[in-house]
Amino acid sequence: MDGCIFCMIASGEIPSETVLETEDVRVVADISPANPGHLLVIPKRHADDFTKLDEASAVAVIKTAQRVVRAMNNTLHPDGINVLQNNGEAAGQTVRHYHMHLIPRYVGDTVRMSWVPTAPGSEAIHSAAAEIRAGLGEA
Ligand code: 5GP
Ligand code: ZN
Repeated sequence: MDGCIFCMIASGEIPSETVLETEDVRVVADISPANPGHLLVIPKRHADDFTKLDEASAVAVIKTAQRVVRAMNNTLHPDGINVLQNNGEAAGQTVRHYHMHLIPRYVGDTVRMSWVPTAPGSEAIHSAAAEIRAGLGEA
């Protein structure tokens, strides 16, 4: 997509610290990492977010992420690894081209990703689940 920075990174038009490139994805080092080794799996075909990802890209992102996470474990030996991605500004998405974060984690590091557990009650839990269930036909 014209003007999309991650399209330009994925295609190689903009240079990046690339860890792996396949036909469908490019894995690069995040420019402002949560920890050293923080990588982004970027599909080459533009998709705004998770809902727009084509099936071949989705498969490639997952398979590649799994391979790279295994390599990360074998090399950096982190205490854990976060595999995550954000959709929409409210969820923390700042680049509107789907990408998956692979973040090596260490006990005592400065990365904070948490929510305050709520207790909305079983009726609210049920009705939200029922609403989503009813929407599956249109998805
Ligand atoms: P988001 O907030 O959209 O989930 O994540 C965007 C990520 O892309 C951020 O972690 C940010 O540091 C990273 N990023 C933004 N611009 C660039 C860039 O030009 N090159 C690289 N390698 N990473 C970038
Ligand atoms: Zn793009």
